[in-house]
Amino acid sequence: MCEWHSELFPDYVCSAPRERGSRLCIFHKEEKDETAFIKTFSDWIAWKAASGEPLDMTGFVFPGSIATSETAGQAHIPIEYEADVILSSARIGGSAAFDGLQLKGSLFLDHCVVHGTVFLAESLIGGDLVLRSAIVEGNLHAGGARMTGPPWSVHF
Ligand SMILES: [Zn+2]
Repeated sequence: MCEWHSELFPDYVCSAPRERGSRLCIFHKEEKDETAFIKTFSDWIAWKAASGEPLDMTGFVFPGSIATSETAGQAHIPIEYEADVILSSARIGGSAAFDGLQLKGSLFLDHCVVHGTVFLAESLIGGDLVLRSAIVEGNLHAGGARMTGPPWSVHF
């Protein structure tokens, strides 16, 4: 089993298998083959989405972008999801292109580092939008986004 944890998440349990010669899985490893990562990630997302469980990507290291659209060679998540999408402490090498995301749960981007831009245009977030201690090196585009969660549901 992968042994990833951090100061913020000391008790985190990752159930993904370790990569050969590493203590970490392909999701948490720093250095990785991007093609293999995208393939493994796509399979994992399909399996997770079928279960309806939160998409817990805490601490994942994405070599490139992540998006809501199925673009070849890019990690993607479903554009509609019932549960939480968790990218706490994740590192995204490109952008987080979540335009049009329809989320019943919350979107966690706390302590996440995004080297590109976060796109949330025309998105609908039914739970909380958590941006506490996030680092976005590009811009934050949220034109037309609707946050329908309880009062104080956007956390900076
Ligand atoms: Zn892991």
